[in-house]
Amino acid sequence: MGATPEEKRRVRQLIKLLRSEYPEARCSLDHTNPLELLVATILSAQCTDERVNAVTANLFRKYRTWEDYASAPASGLERDIHSTGFFRNKAKSIQGACRQIGERHGGSVPRTMEELLELPGVARKTANVVLGNAYQIASGVVVDTHVSRLSGRLGLSGEKTPEKIERDLTAQVPESDWIDFSHLLIAHGRKVCKARNPACGECVLARLCPSAGLFD
Ligand code: SF4
Repeated sequence: MGATPEEKRRVRQLIKLLRSEYPEARCSLDHTNPLELLVATILSAQCTDERVNAVTANLFRKYRTWEDYASAPASGLERDIHSTGFFRNKAKSIQGACRQIGERHGGSVPRTMEELLELPGVARKTANVVLGNAYQIASGVVVDTHVSRLSGRLGLSGEKTPEKIERDLTAQVPESDWIDFSHLLIAHGRKVCKARNPACGECVLARLCPSAGLFD
């Protein structure tokens, strides 16, 4: 379902305010190439970006190519990513994805949503992160816990599942802002509109937010 002109106008105002507040907002997972971002994003499930960055600082020195991951003993990779949690599943996903990247994609992380979703352990959120931040391809809006929470509070979506929230956001947010929009909401969610006790009194979005003051 399409968004109304009023909804689109309001989102543009929100983006403008957030941009001036967080001009440096960007992907907070450290990476220097698409493979590193794919691995970091898989590791970020149920884990903070800070912890992932602490782990990948060493991991990316040890594993530089898809072959390094694919050929490593599972137990070794599990040990190297242990502190990110769910390490067995994550190691399995990383190794499966890397084998497929080597066998079917000539060693390069694919550039389409369809191909990315075929990689083991890669769901829509991970694919959106990789496409948007490694390739600057606006394939959708990344919906994580902050984006879900703020979308609800700001009246951008009444949905609960990431897929449906994303559908509401892509209808309202201009496509040219899809990549930045999640970085901006995440920055605001971390600093002001926290899960507990959002600081509505200090929030630049308050006059546009239907939830302003509800938490006092
Ligand atoms: S006004 Fe309050 S609820 Fe709305 S975005 Fe700001 S901090 Fe969050």
